[in-house]
Amino acid sequence: MIDASDQALAALKQYFGYDSFRQGQAGLVEAILEERDVLGVMPTGAGKSICYQVPATLLGGLTIVISPLISLMRDQVDALNDVGISAAFVNGTQSADEQGTVLSQATRGDFRMLYVAPERLETERFRSFCQRVPIDLVTVDEAHCVSQWGQDFRSSYLGISDFLASLPSRPRVAAFTATATERVRRDIVALLGLRQPEVTVTGFDRPNLYFDLMKMPSKNKNPWIIAYAKDHQDESGIVYCATRKETEALAQELCRAGLKAAAYHGGMAPDERNRAQRDFVEDNTPVVVATNAFGMGIDKSNVRYVIHHNMPESIEAYYQEAGRAGRDGEPGRCTLLWNESDIVTRRRLLDSDVVNERLSPEEHEAVRFSKRRLLGAMIGYCRTTDCLHRYMTRYFADDGSMQDRIGKDGQAVDSQHISRGESDHAANASLGPKEGEQLRTNQLLEAGRSSADGDGKFSCGNCSNCESTFETIDVSRIAQTISRCVHDLNQSFGSGKLVAVLRGSQAQELISRGLDKLPSYGALKDETQARVRDVLSQMATDGFLSISEGRMPIVGFGPRAGETAQPDFHYEIKRLEIRKTTAVSQA
Ligand code: ADP
Repeated sequence: MIDASDQALAALKQYFGYDSFRQGQAGLVEAILEERDVLGVMPTGAGKSICYQVPATLLGGLTIVISPLISLMRDQVDALNDVGISAAFVNGTQSADEQGTVLSQATRGDFRMLYVAPERLETERFRSFCQRVPIDLVTVDEAHCVSQWGQDFRSSYLGISDFLASLPSRPRVAAFTATATERVRRDIVALLGLRQPEVTVTGFDRPNLYFDLMKMPSKNKNPWIIAYAKDHQDESGIVYCATRKETEALAQELCRAGLKAAAYHGGMAPDERNRAQRDFVEDNTPVVVATNAFGMGIDKSNVRYVIHHNMPESIEAYYQEAGRAGRDGEPGRCTLLWNESDIVTRRRLLDSDVVNERLSPEEHEAVRFSKRRLLGAMIGYCRTTDCLHRYMTRYFADDGSMQDRIGKDGQAVDSQHISRGESDHAANASLGPKEGEQLRTNQLLEAGRSSADGDGKFSCGNCSNCESTFETIDVSRIAQTISRCVHDLNQSFGSGKLVAVLRGSQAQELISRGLDKLPSYGALKDETQARVRDVLSQMATDGFLSISEGRMPIVGFGPRAGETAQPDFHYEIKRLEIRKTTAVSQA
């Protein structure tokens, strides 16, 4: 056994020039050196690579790094060789000859680290190579890809445990990810076959980031973004858009406004993309407008702002992308611009999701269900009036409670139902407090800052919700009337019809169907359409109503519907009253 602390510190200094480990790193390095499996869950920028690179320099045999990010392997390997750690990669960008050369060099013991994509593990050539060389450590990067419950499931990750079993002697296995909730963590442990792993989950809060949430009244969010970028011309920023088309249009608009901006998306030629990336990293282009293809592994520490033009599909995706701001520890601003049509678009995308052939129809439905839950939590973030830092850290710290409260599309659900569904899946996972794993959790907010609880007194001072005031409006009567109308309509109409009936619309279609004869017809004619819609959305979020999936969503009752019929039913919504943040001077 190696004396972990001294040698690891010496290696950290020698190769990377750092004097001390960051939070969570030392424990993981030590555990690896003590021949244990590990799982490190750390946010982007926390320094996961060091956790396996340092041990790799101290172990006698080879370290294999499994990573899905083929496009980054060359950079990673170059960086390692630059600091004196001999490393190489084998992937499909090389010819068969080149691959052969790397493998024979590796057989000779020329490298400490070898990077491969998970697909490589299934090839005969690579498997036979692994029979011949002593492998001390297998690192699985982006380990959440093994789970169908996360957002980036890759079926090739399911082959990793077979690969490990095929090795002459089982090496230690170190899995890392930036995005793993409890459920995904269980999957990682079970599906990679980690043995009594040391599990380290470092604090997910990024106190230097300002979280800013803006509901945009109009569909065109570009003028706000352009004004912001103009105000922050000396800073580096990323604007994430949902589609390639939006990316290019906004980049052009920014350029027309006199700013240096570039687009980046998967449809561009590789050299164009590389140029855009390089210009951004070298500070020649301050703003990149990108799809989510941009950023995985880009090591640019001085990004000062990340703006999301649309609501992403999950909190995981949002946190990872927004988290690219302020990696140097200096202040960063993460702004999410959203509106109700983003929610509609996301739901539609989810329903038209391509079917993965490897999955049975039941599995496919389960994945879709899980994605709806992820989307539900994202919608919850957009709608919450609570501290945004706290929302995030609770989400990632989840003991199941938060996710159980948020159902598909943000509707609260019967937690019994959800837990039952999950425990089937989790039954074969070996992670649990009783099974001897050491879970080190350091949730900064949970431990230190969340002293006030849910009563509005809590303030992080670093998010737009905590800096704004919300007006509380009693909408009990409106909510009860909406429920009555859902009943009148037999839970078989969409929200458009529902609102039209409630407001006593004279539309011919409504009258010819006799909907004007319903008891609730015109019952909310004195309320604005926006108010009725707001209450309806909020009721869906809180579980009083449910909105079905599909092209024509139908409004029905949710699990809490019965409460609205109680005589003492009281219901409030919060509306933004004063927004104190002043990020843009003239937007
Ligand atoms: P992650 O993979 O978790 O996103 P990286 O491994 O890319 O993070 O590390 C992010 C940055 O932090 C890198 O620039 C890295 O060199 C730096 N870093 C990592 N560990 C330390 C440390 N112990 N001290 C100082 N800087 C560190």
